[in-house]
Order: sequence, then structure tokens, then C-alpha cells
Amino acid sequence: MTDYAALKADLEGLPIEDNPAIVKQKSRDFFWYSPVLKRQLDEVTADLVVTVRTEADVIRVLKACYAHDVPVTTRGAGTGNYGQAMPLSGGVVLNLAEMRKIKRIASGSIVAEAGAIIADIDTVTRQQTGQELRMHPSTYRTATIGGFIAGGSGGVGSINWGGLRDLGNVIRARVVTMEAEPRILDLSGDDVHKVIHAYGTNGIITEVEMPLAASYDWVDVIVGFDSFMDAVHFGNEIGNQDGILTKEIAPIAAPVPHDYFLRHKKYLRKDQSVCVFMVAPFAMSAFEVLAGRSVGDIVYRSDKATEEDLKSLPPAYELAWNHTTLRGLRVDPTITYLQVLYPYPDHIERVGKMESLFGDEVPGHLEFVRFDGNITCFGLPIVRFSTEDRLEEIMRLHEEHGCPIFNPHRYTLEEGGMKQTDQVQLDFKRDADPKGLLNPGKMIGWEDPNFDFQSPAIYLFPGLQEQNQG
Ligand SMILES: Cc1cc2nc3c(=O)[nH]c(=O)nc-3n(C[C@H](O)[C@H](O)[C@H](O)COP(=O)(O)OP(=O)(O)OC[C@H]3O[C@@H](n4cnc5c(N)ncnc54)[C@H](O)[C@@H]3O)c2cc1C
Repeated sequence: MTDYAALKADLEGLPIEDNPAIVKQKSRDFFWYSPVLKRQLDEVTADLVVTVRTEADVIRVLKACYAHDVPVTTRGAGTGNYGQAMPLSGGVVLNLAEMRKIKRIASGSIVAEAGAIIADIDTVTRQQTGQELRMHPSTYRTATIGGFIAGGSGGVGSINWGGLRDLGNVIRARVVTMEAEPRILDLSGDDVHKVIHAYGTNGIITEVEMPLAASYDWVDVIVGFDSFMDAVHFGNEIGNQDGILTKEIAPIAAPVPHDYFLRHKKYLRKDQSVCVFMVAPFAMSAFEVLAGRSVGDIVYRSDKATEEDLKSLPPAYELAWNHTTLRGLRVDPTITYLQVLYPYPDHIERVGKMESLFGDEVPGHLEFVRFDGNITCFGLPIVRFSTEDRLEEIMRLHEEHGCPIFNPHRYTLEEGGMKQTDQVQLDFKRDADPKGLLNPGKMIGWEDPNFDFQSPAIYLFPGLQEQNQG
């Protein structure tokens, strides 16, 4: 039985929230994107939320929680969409949202505290040095930089720079361990992989050093097409133009843009597929040449929009990545989505195959990215959800056709990713979190070393079973 009164006494002076309604709210993320996770995780809640403002506060909380055997789940802004930030064993939610100082800006890099909001970082680097982060999630305006590194994978800008896991895209992460005497480790080079996309299961990131690129007043452009595959071919063509600088290329199949992009509706026909772009202003004249040669029409461009439109329309990146799904869910809460890789060099052919196999049951949504040096595409297609069995079948059919699924309907690192434990992250957890108190239930390799990833069984964390029953 955990002695929360004693823990609170140890943490005296730090902001502690124990109102059950607020604690539950701070124990949730965007897990409800998935009907499967919604069913499994709806009751999950922590016991306390502790807010920290300095690294010394983090050390204090970890030390006390270690002494009382209390699990700790870190929270940035809680925009993860696989239940990453949800405390499956209860305990403490460690709120980092107030650790948001920007500490140093240099030519090509920035050092910031982990709770800094990504857009806030860009605002400062743009104003002071004409630079911006290489990539950001579409939750740019709300997500923290630490949460992006620990829970995200890439996004707007990945067309040029690949993903967070690509060496060089995270320069350094400063991490506090979960031990009797927490250590502070500065991880750089290959060592950053110990904590990138590890869901905070093996250390708390307090500070990061990130690379910067030149900043631009990106022009949002939407090109309309009569067919999805025309939009896909055009996106691929632009992605492969070495002279045209873009930051975002997302083909999206009809009727999704018309039906779900409510504020852009006036520019779109119901049967129109689109490709959404962010283009550097100096590249617009070249872009126009290629758009003119294509079978599509530019239906919207922000550099020619009225002031009124600019005020009322969301930026292009909030039509893309997981925002496409979010806009869909607001109109039709019964839909869900997948995460798919269409491997180079057959990516276009595979996209076409999936389109013909599923039609409007799985309307296409692609994100062009640079992957191992080649331009290829990820997919976040919408799924018109019927049953969990059919969802599984749709995923199986993708895999059978050579399109690997990164399952967004699982809360564990392994099942949502490569279906095997990341040995580097597991080894680091053994060292940095010997009691297994950090974000329990998310790394199967730690919880159940004998779990068979080839079996069709879904891992269900025992703590979660208890919560679901209790
Ligand atoms: C509409 C929508 C669009 C999205 N678009 C994208 C996208 O384009 N690309 C993308 O990669 N993701 C995307 N996501 C997922 C998510 O928004 C991002 O990954 C985001 O960067 C997470 O940041 P956060 O601050 O909200 O992290 P949280 O959700 O709070 O945390 C994410 C994970 O990291 C852990 N964590 C948080 N901070 C730390 C820390 N300092 N140290 C250790 N662990 C920590 C948490 O415990 C959790 O496991 C999207 C989600 C939504 C809902």
C-alpha cells in the first residue's frame, strides 16, 4: 500500500494536484483516436500530478518516488495519440509543461528545456537568428519538444530531414535517471537513441539540444486533382525536385478534404483529391511551372489569400499528419486511422494497390518523407471503422502487400513499432530505472521478456487488467 501522505510530505513546496477529476484529465492524451485504445484505457488515471519547474525539482520527485516505490509517468502537453502518456499503474504524473526555458541559440542549434512548446522555440529562433527547427509534429502549437522526442517520430520537415531517429536530428538529450540517487546524463551521438521514442520509460529528459535550419515564411498551397493517384504522382514529383524547397507534401483522397476540412470547404469539390504543400516563397515560381504542367489546379495559396482568409484558415500543417484524422474525427467520430510505410522504390505502386483494394473504406492520406536518403511516403489513411476484427484484417492485408504497419491501436513501444524490443532502450532501462517505475506497461521487453511477438496475442499489461476490473 503506497503511503501517499508520506510522499506528499517529501514533496512539500512543489505544486501537487490530487483532485481526482483534474488528475484524470492530466492522465489522458489523444488515446481516444483509436477505438481499441479507447476501450482499453478509458479508466486509466494517476493518483497525483506533480508539477516541476527546474531539473532540481525533477530529481527531488524521482528520488522521493523511488523511495516510496511510486510509478512516474512524464507528461509534456499530452498530445500523444497511443496512450503513451497514460499512467497504467497509477502513481505520479510528472508535469514538465512549466520547464520551458530557451537556454541558448547558436548558428545551427538550440538548447531548450524539455517542456518548451515547439512553436515558442521557433518564434524565438526566427526573431533572433532567422532559423527554425528542422521538423515538428502537426501539434506544433501545443506539443513540447521533450514530448516530441520521447513520444513522436517526425512530421513537417521530414521531407527534407527524415525522422527524429535519424542521426543528427537530436544533438543531445540531458536525462535524469530513476534511482535512489538520480544521476544526470548528457546523451549525444548514438546514445540519444536510448531515449528517442522510448515514451519516458527509461529516463526523464530535462533539456535538449536540437539542430536548426534556415527559416522561411512558408507558403501554404493546395493543389486539387480529379483522382487520388494524380495527387500522389504530383506529390512524388515535387518531392523529387532538388531545386524546389518544400516543408510538407501530403496527398489526401476525396472526399476527405471537402468533408473534413470545414474551413477550406469553399475551395474544394466533394470529388476532389488534393495535395497539401508548404513551399518556400522563393520556390513558388518554379512550383507554379510544375503545377501548370500537371493535371491539377492550384485551388488555394496563402500568399494570394485575403487577410480575412489568413485569419480564419488553419495553417497547412494542421491539415496534415494526425491533424487530418483529427479533423475527420470532429465531423465523424466513428472513423479511425492507420500508420503505414510504403517502401521505396515501389511506394507509388503499393499506394495504388491499397487504393484499389479498399476504396472508400480506407481513403488515402500520404506524407512524403526522406527515408534513408530516398523520397518515399508514409500513410495515415482514414479507416471507416466497422469492427476491431475488420481493422485487424485491413492491417494484415497491408502487411501481406509489403506495406508495414506501425500499429496506432497499441500502447506498447514494441507493438506500435517494429514488433521487437529495442535492446539499446531495454539495456538503458535496466541501468537507469532498476525498479521499473518509469511509465510502467509500455515496454514489453521489460514487463514480459518471454512475450512472443510473432503470436497474434495482444499484450495486456497486468496493472491495466486490474484497473479495468477494479
Ligand atoms: C492532432 C495530432 C497530430 C499529431 N501529429 C504528429 C506528427 O506530425 N508527428 C509526430 O511525431 N507525432 C504527432 N502527434 C503525436 C504527438 O502530438 C507528438 O508526438 C508530440 O510531439 C508529443 O508531445 P507532447 O508534449 O504532447 O508529449 P506527451 O504526449 O505529453 O508525451 C509523449 C510521450 O513522451 C513522454 N514524455 C513527455 N515528455 C517527456 C520528457 N521530458 N522526458 C521523457 N519522456 C517524456 C510521455 O510520458 C509520453 O510517453 C500528433 C498527435 C495529434 C493528437
